[in-house]
Amino acid sequence: MERPTARWLSWPPAFAFHVEPMGSVIAVSNQKGGVGKTTSVVNLAGLCALAGKRVLVIDSDPQGNATSVLAPGHTGDSIYARGKPVASTIAGVDCCPSGSDLIDQERALHRDGDGHFRLRQLMDPYRPVYDVVFVDCPPNLSFLPTNALLASDWLLVPLQCEYYALEGLSQLLAYIEHLRETAGAKIELAGVLLTMHQPESPLARQVVDEIHRHFPDNPFRHPIPRDLALAAAPSHSAAGYLYDPLSPGAVAYLAAAKELLHVIG
Ligand code: ATP
Ligand code: MG
Repeated sequence: MERPTARWLSWPPAFAFHVEPMGSVIAVSNQKGGVGKTTSVVNLAGLCALAGKRVLVIDSDPQGNATSVLAPGHTGDSIYARGKPVASTIAGVDCCPSGSDLIDQERALHRDGDGHFRLRQLMDPYRPVYDVVFVDCPPNLSFLPTNALLASDWLLVPLQCEYYALEGLSQLLAYIEHLRETAGAKIELAGVLLTMHQPESPLARQVVDEIHRHFPDNPFRHPIPRDLALAAAPSHSAAGYLYDPLSPGAVAYLAAAKELLHVIG
């Protein structure tokens, strides 16, 4: 009998239509304020671009902190008002800046019946164009973050090593579960990125241990340290890893970017 050949094994034959690769969309969210969401977005976006990825950052926070680093002085509309991506201050990273319209957009989304899916629809044209899309969320679980969570494949949670951090995390994960059940969210947890870590603090050690216990497969093995270089960088409209590439914070974000790219494939 004829032995199976590669021709046999490749049945059914591959059809010759072209399938566009789809980028991964990552919501960077935590309803707690000041935990390092924007710092993580800006640094991870730049480092993913350095690894050769085509990167888009969507600033979905009316505070516009990512915009002030990536597109300083931008005065146009947000993606919700059909604002287009602009080249950012970091090579290889485009940015859909925050806009003065965002607060009004949030009210409009609230009125609109299917307002929760607006970002998913608006993002469709960009998915084949970029390898990685980061959505920087504001510190709440209102309409803008809900839009981000419903439009994303992955959730990245920056978590400050402090008291109450874990309560916030379980609320966020319960909300994701609710969105899966009620709105068909497809989002998966990419990981919990511990930020502003101070190894000498017993409380920080406790939070690190808790995260390892609850998320044994968490891909982010190394916390981001509290580092003055990361804090100073935005006042120079720069990402931390460019402002001081050898700082402990920059080195930690490099490791985190590699871990993130590994998770999202
Ligand atoms: P918000 O909830 O208001 O959007 P956020 O979660 O985006 O805040 P960031 O703006 O990234 O948080 O960080 C809050 C502050 O902490 C900023 O001043 C930032 O420069 C600083 N910061 C962030 N990460 C670090 C770090 N690892 N070491 C020192 N300072 C940091
Ligand atoms: Mg922020």
